[in-house]
Parts: sequence; structure tokens; C-alpha cells
Amino acid sequence: MNQMKNWFGEQVDTWRHLRTYSIRHGQPNFQSKMSFRKFNQINSTLWICGDHRDTPSIQGAMVSGRRTAESLITTLKD
Ligand SMILES: Cc1cc2nc3c(=O)[nH]c(=O)nc-3n(C[C@H](O)[C@H](O)[C@H](O)COP(=O)(O)OP(=O)(O)OC[C@H]3O[C@@H](n4cnc5c(N)ncnc54)[C@H](O)[C@@H]3O)c2cc1C
Repeated sequence: MNQMKNWFGEQVDTWRHLRTYSIRHGQPNFQSKMSFRKFNQINSTLWICGDHRDTPSIQGAMVSGRRTAESLITTLKD
């Protein structure tokens, strides 16, 4: 609520919580002790990227895409 107040002001006090939905498997499994930056090359001709290779977020998906592109460029140069 405090964070919302920073964004939307005092009107937040008038808001009423309607309902919370927990959606199983809505995001890749990620826990604090898990390592991120997982490998993105499956074999000599197959690369993958996505939030499941880094952190389950837009930022993680973008970092993963960059890592995959860099890995591809390096491989194609060799
Ligand atoms: C409700 C919700 C709220 C979120 N809010 C935030 C937020 O506020 N901030 C944040 O940083 N992150 C948020 N996220 C997480 C963020 O949306 C994801 O981490 C990010 O979109 C993952 O990007 P991605 O490209 O790895 O995968 P996706 O965005 O899931 O893209 C994968 C694409 O592959 C397609 N696909 C799947 N299988 C196949 C197939 N066999 N053939 C062809 N195409 C296929 C899918 O249709 C999809 O378009 C949220 C996620 C959810 C579910």
C-alpha cells in the first residue's frame, strides 16, 4: 500500500481489495538460492532463450536474448 501511495496518492486509502488470484505455473519456477544465467546452447545447432533461462521477468527475458545472440555471434565467428 505504501508503494501504491507513492504512485497514486492518498486516494489509495479509499481502494477496496476485491480478490487475489494465485495462478500456478504463471511464471517459471525461481527461488532465491537458484542459480540464474542458465546455459542457452542445447547442442551445436540449437540455442534457446527466454525468462526461464535467467530471471522470470521482462528484464530476464531480454538478458537471456542478448546472451543467446552473443553466444551465436561468437560461435558463427569461429
Ligand atoms: C500476469 C503476469 C504479469 C507479469 N508482470 C510482469 C511485470 O510487471 N514485470 C516484469 O518484468 N515481468 C512480468 N511478468 C513476466 C514477464 O511477462 C515474462 O517474464 C516475460 O514475458 C517472458 O518473456 P519470454 O519472451 O521469455 O516468454 P513469453 O513472453 O512467454 O514468450 C514466449 C512466446 O513463445 C510462444 N510459444 C510458446 N510455445 C511456442 C511454440 N511451440 N511455437 C511457437 N511459439 C510458441 C508463446 O505464445 C509466447 O508468445 C509477468 C508475467 C505474468 C504472467
